[in-house]
Amino acid sequence: MGALRTWQHPACGYKGRPILPNVRNREPMSQPKYKRVLLKLSGEVLMGSQQFGIDPEFVAELAKEVKAAHDTGLEICLVIGGGNIFRGMAGAAKGMDRAQADYMGMLATVMNALAMQNALEQLGVKTRVQSAVQMDQVCEPVIRRRAERHLEKGRVVIFAAGVGSPYFTTDSGAALRAAEMKCDALLKGTSVDGVYDSDPKTNPQARRYDTVNYDTVLAQNLKVMDASAVALCRDNDIPIVVFSIREKGNLARVLAGEGTKTVVQKGA
Ligand code: UDP
Repeated sequence: MGALRTWQHPACGYKGRPILPNVRNREPMSQPKYKRVLLKLSGEVLMGSQQFGIDPEFVAELAKEVKAAHDTGLEICLVIGGGNIFRGMAGAAKGMDRAQADYMGMLATVMNALAMQNALEQLGVKTRVQSAVQMDQVCEPVIRRRAERHLEKGRVVIFAAGVGSPYFTTDSGAALRAAEMKCDALLKGTSVDGVYDSDPKTNPQARRYDTVNYDTVLAQNLKVMDASAVALCRDNDIPIVVFSIREKGNLARVLAGEGTKTVVQKGA
């Protein structure tokens, strides 16, 4: 609201009470863009500047970003990958049985989920981890209604172990949970600031999309998420917002509709 105007008598200069703006004619206040989001973080962002594993200092920084978003009243579901520890495909490429290697990958995502839970709770954010591979001593199993209740109570729910089956990825897990939990958007925080028409690391002419539709992503095999995750988001009309989580404050900017990002959506 700007400075309030004051009525002044034209002859004697007497100043009346400030004129309040007409509430009925006032422009509507800008509404928050989202009420509930699913934030997917690739495992590699937990490495910080390391080549492998978990950098607790960097996880603490990430947790601050999540807390800042949570403090705005947003309901947050989190899915974290496991690529910083183990990827099933990499194991299979070295001769391991693929399903066995994928189970190891899923366990890696549980470790990351616990690391993030620890970092968030150290900042005073209440959380629950729900794993698609049951491990009662460590966390809850995935129960949608229970997750709903946690979100209502202001807890961040961290979904671990992807969809709980081999031959899938945590991208698919993220799309599935985003649909199940009726999230307004799936935010994919990675090391790059959006979706490019070719690899920006090898092609300096690569162009970043501001918006792009699901079918273009699938037809051109653009590196966003795996195809099953993109298709699930398309079929459930969930926008995918791809942005760099490595830039400080970027999550908050993206949530406010600002910042550098690519939005994958219908009709773009
Ligand atoms: N994984 C799986 N099923 C799932 C989710 C994950 O088998 O539903 C395994 C798979 O081996 C994958 C690994 O867990 O490579 C780590 O997940 P992802 O590659 O998605 O992690 P990110 O690339 O996001 O760090």
